[in-house]
Amino acid sequence: MTEQQSEVTVPCPWCGQGKTLADCHADIRVSCPCNICGRFYKIDFRTMRVYRISRKPRRAIKKR
Ligand SMILES: [Zn+2]
Repeated sequence: MTEQQSEVTVPCPWCGQGKTLADCHADIRVSCPCNICGRFYKIDFRTMRVYRISRKPRRAIKKR
């Protein structure tokens, strides 16, 4: 039996506590909010890099 360490854990770049889990490495990029601090960050699973996104929700900008 061989253990498969295919699970990838990416910590939140803002607070370092929130975590995003992925089953395996893939050629995708995901933008998601942290479930602890609520800030957005983007994960590039191909290069395993995490980028901070400081954007505001569009609902707050539109006033119509
Ligand atoms: Zn966070």
